[in-house]
Amino acid sequence: MFAVRLSHRPLLAAFLGLFSSLAALPAIADAPFDTCVAQLQSQARQDGISAKVVDELLGKVSHNPTVIHLDRKQPEFTQTFAGYLNARVTDSKVAAGRELLAEHRSLLERVAHQYGVPAKYLLAFWGMETDYGRYFGKMPIVDSLTTLACNQRRSAFFSKEVIAALKMVDEGAVKPADFKGSWAGAIGNFQFLPSVFLRYAVDYDGDGKRDVWHSLPDALASAANFLKGLGWSADTRWGREVLLPKGFPYQDAGINQPRSLTDWHKLGVETAFGKPLPQDDQVQASLVIPAGYRGPAFLVYHNFHVIMDWNHSEYYALSVGYLADRIAGAAPLQKAPPVNLPRLTREEVQSLQSELTAKGFDAGQPDGILGTATRSAIRDYQQHHGMIADGYPGEEVLASLGVGDQTAASH
Ligand code: CA
Repeated sequence: MFAVRLSHRPLLAAFLGLFSSLAALPAIADAPFDTCVAQLQSQARQDGISAKVVDELLGKVSHNPTVIHLDRKQPEFTQTFAGYLNARVTDSKVAAGRELLAEHRSLLERVAHQYGVPAKYLLAFWGMETDYGRYFGKMPIVDSLTTLACNQRRSAFFSKEVIAALKMVDEGAVKPADFKGSWAGAIGNFQFLPSVFLRYAVDYDGDGKRDVWHSLPDALASAANFLKGLGWSADTRWGREVLLPKGFPYQDAGINQPRSLTDWHKLGVETAFGKPLPQDDQVQASLVIPAGYRGPAFLVYHNFHVIMDWNHSEYYALSVGYLADRIAGAAPLQKAPPVNLPRLTREEVQSLQSELTAKGFDAGQPDGILGTATRSAIRDYQQHHGMIADGYPGEEVLASLGVGDQTAASH
């Protein structure tokens, strides 16, 4: 039965006083989920999914309260770039990627050539998503997706994913008993959502079945096909680490402020090895400074935005790009991200946002998330007060706004 009843305990306790029969209780609490499942069943039949699959998968689907708990869970602290990157791009992950590149070189080169996505990026996504297939997730997918579809927050989005998941089973891509993945419904080596599977997965080994779990040729070609569909540009890099000159106008940084490579060259931006940037009026790039002026700087190109279309996080996109370069033989960052920067609690970020907005620097909704609007507001505030305008909530900004205790955490 559905453990969702736990959250209705006070209500149930009230009913217990009124009714002598316990038998009627589950129907009261479970009705919304059952109704929602019935609607999904009807939608699935309308979409031409076989009655057998609809009955088998939605006939005994369970509400999973763990999924809702994980969906609502917010991290206690903002994550620093060093904390994120150092946990994901480890020496052992780089070494494993290099070994896999050698082991599967001919397959990777075939896929790379056919789809226009270099092997190093396929390995980097694979390493980031599942540590090269070591962990696919063990949650029953249809339970997870149905739970999210029957919850108000993102019901429409996940209802489509439920239907897509049923279509996967209907086409024989996976057996119901094996249909497992992350709590949020992501599956296989590259953690595709079912809708992404339906649109982009490829039967590359030619056995008549698209299998993103057990067939490496299928999984790699599917990831490459997805990236191609997102607009991957075959001939350009994701971005690169760069060095900035003294007195650099940090207010020009941020992914929402692209300029040509020629313009960045004129501002004195150099490669991480102190060489001049290639001058090109046509290539647009933005400067990303994920850990403030004390940390590394990156010039990012079109493919960086493609990576963010896969996962909307600058930290994620920087990690994929950096891991790809390391797998291909590049050295570690010239300027490692500082590890002793203050971490903020969500409440501190919210008060930072409120303070900025109150002082006329619009930080958007005080949601506790350091997004693009908040970083822009910090940049404007810093510039207005003669600070280095890197858009990073460093100690100087926090002290000036009276947010947090401004002591560096030993993170
Ligand atoms: Ca296949």
